[in-house]
Amino acid sequence: MDDVVTTFINAQGVTEATSAFLARSKAHFIANEWHPSGESMAVLEPSTGGLLAEVPCGDTATVNLAVAAANTAFKSGEWSQWTPVQRERVLMRLADLIEENLQTLAEIESLDAGKAIAGCKEVDIGGSIDVLRYMAGWATKIDGATRSVSVPGEHFAYTLKEPVGVVGAIVPWNWPFNMAIWKLAAPLAVGCSIVLKPAQLTPLSMLYFAELCLEAGLPPGAFNVVLGRGSVVGEALVNHPDINKVSFTGSTPVGIGVGQAAIANLNPVTLELGGKSPMVVFADADIQRVVDATQQSVFFNTGQVCSAGSRIYVQRDIYEQTVAAIAERAASMVVGHVLDEATEMGPAISAGQKASVLEYIAIGKSEGARVVCGGEDPGGEGYFVQPTLLADCHNQMRVVQEEIFGPVLVAIPFDTEEEAIALANDNIYGLAASVFTQDVSRAHRLVRQLEAGTVWVNTHDMIDANTPFGGVKQSGFGKDLGPEQLDHYLKTKSVWMAL
Ligand code: NAP
Ligand code: MG
Repeated sequence: MDDVVTTFINAQGVTEATSAFLARSKAHFIANEWHPSGESMAVLEPSTGGLLAEVPCGDTATVNLAVAAANTAFKSGEWSQWTPVQRERVLMRLADLIEENLQTLAEIESLDAGKAIAGCKEVDIGGSIDVLRYMAGWATKIDGATRSVSVPGEHFAYTLKEPVGVVGAIVPWNWPFNMAIWKLAAPLAVGCSIVLKPAQLTPLSMLYFAELCLEAGLPPGAFNVVLGRGSVVGEALVNHPDINKVSFTGSTPVGIGVGQAAIANLNPVTLELGGKSPMVVFADADIQRVVDATQQSVFFNTGQVCSAGSRIYVQRDIYEQTVAAIAERAASMVVGHVLDEATEMGPAISAGQKASVLEYIAIGKSEGARVVCGGEDPGGEGYFVQPTLLADCHNQMRVVQEEIFGPVLVAIPFDTEEEAIALANDNIYGLAASVFTQDVSRAHRLVRQLEAGTVWVNTHDMIDANTPFGGVKQSGFGKDLGPEQLDHYLKTKSVWMAL
C-alpha cells in the first residue's frame, strides 16, 4: 500500500498535506474516534483506474454504533443544547479550516472523483464554504411565533422550533464533498446530530473533513461518517429505528426505496433525485450565453450533474447555428489531467459509468441522432469520455428521455412556444429548466409553465446557498439550501398557556 501511494504521488505532484493524508490509514468516524472495523475496500482514481487508497467497509454493527453515538450526543444536549452562538462559532471555524486547507481538499476530491481541479476549488470546495457559513448564520435565527387565538378565556399561544434529532444522510459520488456539506450544514446549525454515508466510490474528502471537525471542536457524536456500500450501510441507516429524519441525494430508483424505508418508520424524508433538465432556446436568444451555459452545466464535471441542461430545444431559425456554436466550443474543451489548472473536464467516475455513457451514445446513433462532436471512445488509461453533441433528436428517443449522467447533450429543433413548453415538460423528471430569450413576457410565461424546481433565464446551473434547490415529479421532493431547508430539520411544537 505504501509503495502504491508513493509511486502515485510522485507521478501526480500533489502537496505534502495531500500525500500525508492519502498515506494515513482510513477508518469510520464515530463519536470523534476512528473505527477501522470491516473488510477493506479499494478506492480507485478515475483518471488512471489505479489504486488511490483503501478504506474499511462498514456493516449493520458499524451503523448501530454510529446511530447510538449520534443519539447519545443529541439526548445529552452536547451540541443540540449548545447556545446558538456556540454552534455558529464552531461551524464558522469549520468553514475557516476548509478555506485554509482548500488546496489539499481540492486535490483529494479531484483525484478521488476525477474532477478538474480549477472547477473543484471554485464550485465543490468554495461553494461548500459558502453554504457552511450561510447555515452557521441561521443557527442564531431560528424562531417560533406568538399566535393570537380566539378560544374562550385568556391564553398565550406560541410555537417552538426544535431540532428533529438524529439525521441519516446519504450522498452520491458526483459532488462528494459539496453534497455532503449541503446535507450536514443545515441540520448541524439547528442542533441535530448526523450519521453520513458517502458513496463508496468517493469516500475520501469526508474523512479529511472529519479531521477538520475534530480541530474545529465539534463534540463527539454530532457528526459521524460510516463508509461502505449503499446496499448494506445505506439500507441499515435508513431503516434504523433510532433515526428521526432521512436526507438522500442520488438516483430516482434508489430514492424511492429510501423514501419507503423512511415512511415505514414515519420519518420525514428529503429526496434529491435525478434529472433531465431542458434548455429552451428561442430565436432571439444570445447564442454565446447559450454556449456558456452548456459549459457550466452539461459539460461541467463531465456531465455528472443532476441539474445538467442535457436536452436543448432550439427554435428552428437558429437551430443549425446554435448546434454548430455549441459543438465548436465543446470540441475545444481541455480534457485531461485533473490536477492541471487548465483542464476543463476530467474522466467519468468509473469504468461502469464510462461504459454506460458510450452505450447511450450508441443507442442515440441507432435511434437516428447525428453526432456533431465527440461520440468516440478516446481510449488510453482512465475513464475518459468526449464532450458529445447529438443533434436532430426527438422526444421519443431514449437519449432524450433518460438521464445519461455524462457530457452528452441532445439537441431538438422546435417551431412554436407552445410546442417548446410541451416538449420540455414531456419527461418524468422536474429538477430544473432554463429558457433563453430577450423577450421578458415570454421569459415569465415559460418560468410559470415549465415543470421544474428551479428555472433559470438566460443562464443555467446557477446555485447559491440562499436559494432553495430541489425537484418536482420524479426528481423528488424537499429542498436543500435557502431558509426552506431549515424547516426539514425542525419540529414545530405548539405551546398553550392559560393565563
Ligand atoms: P445512487 O446509486 O442512487 O447512489 C446514491 C447513494 O445512495 C450512494 O451513497 C449509494 O451508495 C447509496 N445507496 C445505494 N443503494 C442504496 C440503498 N439500497 N439504500 C440506501 N442507500 C443506497 O446514485 P449515484 O449513481 O451514486 O448518483 C447519481 C444520481 O444522483 C443521479 O441520478 C443524479 O441525478 C443524482 N443526483 C441528484 C442530485 C440532486 O440534488 N437532485 C444531486 C446529485 C446527484 P453506494 O454508491 O456506496 O453503494
Ligand atoms: Mg474514487
